[in-house]
Amino acid sequence: MDYEHYFAKRIADLKSEGRYRVFADLERQCGRFPVALNHRDDGIHEVVVWCSNDYLGMGQHPEVLAAAKEAVDRCGAGAGGTRNISGTNHYHVLLEQEIADWNAKESALLFTSGYVANQTTLSTLGATIPGCVIFSDELNHNSMIEGIRHSRAAKHVFRHNDPESLAEALSAYPKETPKLVAFESVYSMDGDIAPIKEMCDVAEAHNAMTFIDEVHAAGMYGAEGSGVAERDGQRDRLTIIQATLAKAIGVVGGYIAGSKSMVDYVRSFGPGFIFSSSLPPMVAAAARASIQVLRRTPEIRTRHQERAATCKARLKAQGIPVMDSVSHIVPVMVGNAALCKQASDLLLKKHHIYVQPINYPTVPVGTERLRITPTPLHTDEMMDHLVKSVVAVWDELDLHKVHVKAAE
Ligand SMILES: *Cc1c(COP(=O)(O)O)cnc(C)c1O
Repeated sequence: MDYEHYFAKRIADLKSEGRYRVFADLERQCGRFPVALNHRDDGIHEVVVWCSNDYLGMGQHPEVLAAAKEAVDRCGAGAGGTRNISGTNHYHVLLEQEIADWNAKESALLFTSGYVANQTTLSTLGATIPGCVIFSDELNHNSMIEGIRHSRAAKHVFRHNDPESLAEALSAYPKETPKLVAFESVYSMDGDIAPIKEMCDVAEAHNAMTFIDEVHAAGMYGAEGSGVAERDGQRDRLTIIQATLAKAIGVVGGYIAGSKSMVDYVRSFGPGFIFSSSLPPMVAAAARASIQVLRRTPEIRTRHQERAATCKARLKAQGIPVMDSVSHIVPVMVGNAALCKQASDLLLKKHHIYVQPINYPTVPVGTERLRITPTPLHTDEMMDHLVKSVVAVWDELDLHKVHVKAAE
C-alpha cells in the first residue's frame, strides 16, 4: 500500500465534502476573556470568542490562577507517576473530597479528561459485571459510545430524552439482569435537557443503575452548581455522576462521583484510570479552587443564564434561526456544511467574531450549525456587535431567516 497516497486521498475527500477541519490559532489573553488574539497568515488579529466551553471564564479567575501558581511552586510541574506508583499528590486527594462533597456523594475519582472518565467507567462496568446490559440515549457523546462499545456488553439505544422508549427497552429483560442506563443532562449541540426524574423513575422500576454525564452542566446548574441533577433534586437517585474539569470549571480533567464501593470498584478495575499518569498537582489545585468559587457564587450562574437568554432573544428578533434550547447554549441552524463554514469565516475575517462551524460527525449531515456560547463576561457592546454581524453575514450569504412578528 502507498500509505502517503492513502492519507492524502482521504484528506482530499474531506475537503471536497466541505468538512475538513481548520483550527483557529488562538492566543488567549489572561484578564481579557473573551477577547483573544487570532494568528492567521495575514497577521495577528484581535477577536471576540463566542464559542468557548470555558462557559464562565473560570480559566482566568484570580483564585484559580493563584492556586495553580502556589501548587507549581510547592510541587513542581508534573505528578510523577500513575496514581498507584508515586503519582497520588495530596492535591488529588483534596480535589476528590471536594468533588464528592459538591455532588453530595460518598466518593469521587479523577481522570485525565472527561472523555477518559466516560470511556473507562462505562467500559469497565459493562465488561466486568456479568451479563450487564447497557441502555444508551441515541444522542450520547462519542466518549460514552466508545466506552460502551469497548465493554462488549449488550447494548440498546433508546430515543433521545424519551423515558417511554427507555422503559420499553428495559422491559425486554428480567429484573435480575444487571442493567446500566447512560445519558447526559445538557446535550451540548441542541441545548436541550434530559428529564432526569422520569429517567430515574423508569430505571428504578427496572432495578437499573444510572450514569449521567453532566459535562455541560457542572458549574452551571443547581444552587451550588454541581449540575442539573442538583437543580432537579435527583442526585441521590443517580448511581454515577460524571463531568469534566475542562469546561465551566475552566481547567482540565474529568471525574465520576458515587458510592464508596462503586468508586472503589472503578479505581481498582478501570484500565484508563490505572495505567495513565495522574494530572499535574497544579491542575488539581486550580480545579479545586474553581469549584470552591463556583459553589459559593450563584450570581455567576444567574448572569450566565441572563446572557444566554438575551442572546437568544436578540438573534430571534432579527429572524436568525436559533434552535429551541432550554440551556445556556445558543445553537443557530445553517443546515449546510459549506455555508456554515463560509458564515464562520465571514464572522471571523470581516467582523472579528470567532464562532467555530459545527459539522458532521459532531452533528448529523444537513444540520450543520453555529454554536454560540455567551458567558458572564460578554458585555452588552459585544452582544450588539454579535447580533449586527450575524445579521450582516446572513444577508450576505442569503441564509434562511425565520419570520418575526414584532421587530426588536
Ligand atoms: C467535552 C465532552 C466530554 C469530554 O470531556 P473532556 O474533559 O473534554 O475530555 C464528555 N462528554 C460530553 C458530553 C462532552 O461534550
